[in-house]
Amino acid sequence: TQTDIDKFKGFWRLFKLGVPIDRDAGKDFLDVSDALLEEVAKVLEFPVASMLPPEAFTVLRKSFDARKSQKEPKFVYTVEMDVDKLLNLEPRTWDFISRLEPKIGVIEHTTHEKVIGDLVNIIHDNKKLNQDRVKGENGHTSSLNSYKLPSTKKAKIAVVGSGPSGLFAALVLAEFGVDVTLIERGQPVEKRGRDIGALVVRRILQTESNFCFGEGGAGTWSDGKLVTRIGRNSGSVLSVMKTLVRFGAPESILVDGKPHLGTDRLIPLLRNFRQHLQDLGVNIRFGSRVDDLIVENGHVVGVNVSDSSGRLGFSSEKLGFDAVVLAVGHSARDVYQMLLSHNTELVPKDFAVGLRIEHPQELINSIQYSKLANEVLSGRGKIPVADYKVVEYVKREDNNDTPQRSCYSFCMCPGGQVVVTSIDPSELCINGMSFSRRASKWANAALAVTVSPKDFNDLGFHGPLAGVDFQREFEQRASIMGGGNFVVPVQTVKDFMDNKLSASNIPSSSYRLGVKAANLHELFPVHITEALQHSIMAFDQELPGFISSDALLHGVETRTSSPVQIPRNPDTFESVSLRGLYPVGEGAGYAGGIVSAAVDGMYAGFALAKSLDLYKADD
Ligand code: FAD
Repeated sequence: TQTDIDKFKGFWRLFKLGVPIDRDAGKDFLDVSDALLEEVAKVLEFPVASMLPPEAFTVLRKSFDARKSQKEPKFVYTVEMDVDKLLNLEPRTWDFISRLEPKIGVIEHTTHEKVIGDLVNIIHDNKKLNQDRVKGENGHTSSLNSYKLPSTKKAKIAVVGSGPSGLFAALVLAEFGVDVTLIERGQPVEKRGRDIGALVVRRILQTESNFCFGEGGAGTWSDGKLVTRIGRNSGSVLSVMKTLVRFGAPESILVDGKPHLGTDRLIPLLRNFRQHLQDLGVNIRFGSRVDDLIVENGHVVGVNVSDSSGRLGFSSEKLGFDAVVLAVGHSARDVYQMLLSHNTELVPKDFAVGLRIEHPQELINSIQYSKLANEVLSGRGKIPVADYKVVEYVKREDNNDTPQRSCYSFCMCPGGQVVVTSIDPSELCINGMSFSRRASKWANAALAVTVSPKDFNDLGFHGPLAGVDFQREFEQRASIMGGGNFVVPVQTVKDFMDNKLSASNIPSSSYRLGVKAANLHELFPVHITEALQHSIMAFDQELPGFISSDALLHGVETRTSSPVQIPRNPDTFESVSLRGLYPVGEGAGYAGGIVSAAVDGMYAGFALAKSLDLYKADD
């Protein structure tokens, strides 16, 4: 009856719709294919798939499932069904409605676009962006005609750092019409690319423009994985993803179970982001390093900047601001030191250290996909280049009551390469990056073991920056073990398990600046080495062939997340110890990864706008 139908109106989600590989429409096809519609019909027990209108269904998520428990590897979809668009179906076909609940479980009632507020909607609406700017009473502009700009002077905010957190904070504030200056010690992506080229080809490290510093932050010359643990379907994550699409990312990132951009896509995206910020009036200063905060009566009132490029021709400059968003990442150790000089509260926190393992990609493909491995075609086929994610819990050596250590794979880069992320020539640390096709012949991932302040103290490091000292210790040891010049100490995983030097036949590495055989047991305290050995053994059970003479461990991976947290008020995002300072992103200890850093920056932008009375939560 019509009443029954009315009960079911709205949006429904259909989960776990499997489409065999040979019938799948391909990775860039985001509409509902015939094969998927057939699967939908099967689940709904709807008699004729071709009678279902495809426009009633939207693909929300697509992943590749090659788990051994599966009879046959397949693509798995989550689809949203808009019942309103099915209303033209013949009434006699409506039987499936009564089967919805028992058949496919409780489906969340949802609107397709959950965004966190009007502002984010406007950011995504091209037309509004260009047309709806309104003049506030004091003459400055905002896209938000529903929000009142204060009649007082225009707020001046500095955002320090142009990584994901700084960019999103700047974007939100600029959309509110705030006078934003974005200060970045590194270079714009064009020049940064040349500096990184000089590093990986000629070993010339620009200490202010490298894999960590420069436009886009640490995430630019990266794998560009957009996976996050903070809730893939949350409005805030969706907003970030949509913003990335708005600036040039492929729409598939909105749907892909493991979204990934790759460095080649990140660079043009960042240029578009920059252009948009400039169109909003953001003053972007590259090659400018914040050396100090100007503090008056316990309140930050500005910053001291110096020319970090040596080309801008000023030694130092004082700039006044109403507030400073600090989005400097966790490699800006000089900033932590500077904050201590202002008695800002910094707290050491847990993070993880370890080694980066590299296998031939073909080996990982065959471990994960068995016979199907041949169909991977270096990122050109339907089947994604294989990855893995492993974790093992290890009892702590010292005290059974303290939490276990975990050892886990981190920042896995299929078809990628190992890169040097040092910012000081006397230190060596590495990470992984890839291009969008993930076509290199190697697969790398960090194997990292959690460490806590007790580990820092055991090594003689104390105080708020004990974790930074702990990181630096291993980076310096690794540099010495490699013999300097960014040469990386390596050991095959087999030899690491046997605690012997890899004498000859070291497998080839994607790392461009050279590797040297070393016994990596000499790097970390014994309990970290043992945790790695124990876990690698377990990983080999899960992924048979993981321990291989073709697999090479590289030292050292120390910057998995921040070793420090800068405590802040959870509502206002303001530092608890220094008024006017807004610590955000990974360096402040509130994010890990591109998406979570972007979300943190976005929320900080909202919090700050609120404190400036640019909007109220209930507006
Ligand atoms: P950052 O990105 O570190 O940005 C901080 C910015 O502040 C930098 O541009 C820096 O130059 C600037 N800055 C620092 N000090 C100052 C100062 N005094 N004055 C002015 N500017 C300053 N994460 C993922 O989610 N997926 C991945 O695939 C991935 N791959 C990675 C690969 C590599 C090689 C690296 C190094 C990291 C990778 N990460 C990845 C981690 C990710 O990049 C970070 O989590 C993220 O960039 C943190 O964002 P953020 O804005 O907090 O800080």
